[in-house]
Amino acid sequence: QSRLTFPLLGLLRVALDLQTSQALFARIFEYLDLHPAIADRPGAHDVDPTRLGEVEFDDVTFRYPDAGADSPATLQSVSFTIDPGQYAAFVGPSGAGKTTISYLLPRFHEVTGGAVRFAGTDIRELRQESLIDNIGIVSQETYLFHATIAENLRYAKPGATDAELEVAARAANIHDTIMSFPDGYGTVVGERGYRLSGGEKQRVAIARVLLKDPAVLILDEATSALDTISERIVQSALDEASRGRTTIAIAHRLSTVIGADVIFVVVAGRIVESGSHAELLARGGEYSRLFAEQAGTLA
Ligand code: ADP
Ligand code: MG
Repeated sequence: QSRLTFPLLGLLRVALDLQTSQALFARIFEYLDLHPAIADRPGAHDVDPTRLGEVEFDDVTFRYPDAGADSPATLQSVSFTIDPGQYAAFVGPSGAGKTTISYLLPRFHEVTGGAVRFAGTDIRELRQESLIDNIGIVSQETYLFHATIAENLRYAKPGATDAELEVAARAANIHDTIMSFPDGYGTVVGERGYRLSGGEKQRVAIARVLLKDPAVLILDEATSALDTISERIVQSALDEASRGRTTIAIAHRLSTVIGADVIFVVVAGRIVESGSHAELLARGGEYSRLFAEQAGTLA
C-alpha cells in the first residue's frame, strides 16, 4: 500500500493504537479509504444535484507535498472538461500523472494551482462527504474486509436489502460465483477468510460501486493485474458499471479506450493531445505512436 496518503496513514495508526475491534477497524479503514483527511471549509455545501457528473479541471498544477520544491510539478496546466455520462479515457506512459489526476477529483490531495470543479462547483466549496458520495473508484488493489461477502457489499450502502445485493452482484457478473462459495453471501472473505481470485475480488468491488451508484466512476487500471480470461469478464462488468455515468478510465491497454467519447493523452504531467480514437490516430502524434507500439506487442 505505497500509495496511501500520509494523513490517512496517521489516522490508521490512531485506529490501531485504540485497538479497535476488527469490524470497527475495517469500517474506519473503509471510511478513510473514501474520505481523505481534508477539512470542510466553513459554509461548505452539497453537490448540485442538477449537474451531477460534470467534471472540470481548470489549469490545474499539482506538486506532491513531499516532492522537492525545485523538482517539476507532477501536473502542469492540466485543463479538461467531461460532460455528464461521457466515457473519458486517460492514457500515457507510467508515471505521467494519470492516477494523480484521478486523486484530485475526490480531493485526496489539494491542488497547488488552478481549480477542480465537480457539478459546476470548485470542490473546495463542497462538503467532502457530499463530493465523495458521488464518486466510485475501482483500482488494481481491492480491499476486502474480514467479513462476509454481504457485509463487504453493504459497506457501500448500509441499508441495502438482499435483493439489492443480488441485483448488483448479477450486474457485476459475480452472483453465480458467490453462490458457489461455501456459505454464499454469508461466506467470510478477506485476510484469513475464503480466498477469492483477483478477478473475483474486482467483481465484488464493482458490485460495491454499483450499490453505491455514484455519478462518476473512476477506473484506474482496474484489470491490469488480471489474466486475459478474468480481464475479459471484469471488463464486461466494468462496461456495465460505466453505462449511464461519467467514467474516467485510466487504461493500460489501448484496446479498451478505442470506444471512449474522449481520450486524453498524458505525458510528463501535461495533457499533450485529446480527441476520439480516430482523430488521434489521424493526427499521427503521441497517441498513434503509443497505439502502434502496443499493436506491435499485442499482435
Ligand atoms: P501514472 O498513474 O500515470 O503512472 P502517477 O500519477 O502515479 O502516474 O505518478 C505521477 C508522478 O508522481 C510519478 O513521478 C510518481 O512517482 C509521483 N508520485 C505518485 N504518488 C506520489 C506520492 N504519494 N508522493 C510523491 N510523488 C508521487
Ligand atoms: Mg497510475
